[in-house]
Amino acid sequence: MTFAEAVNRKLNKKICMKCYAKNPPNATRCRRCGYTGLRPKRKERKGT
Ligand SMILES: [Zn+2]
Repeated sequence: MTFAEAVNRKLNKKICMKCYAKNPPNATRCRRCGYTGLRPKRKERKGT
């Protein structure tokens, strides 16, 4: 694994849009508040 991949893995978390808790990338709902509005936190594109 390259360093970039390791960093990308670390950033590959899901953030709850309600309470902003960090969840595992395979989570479908927030483990803290149960909210299903999770957004992936990953940098793949530049800009926007
Ligand atoms: Zn939450």
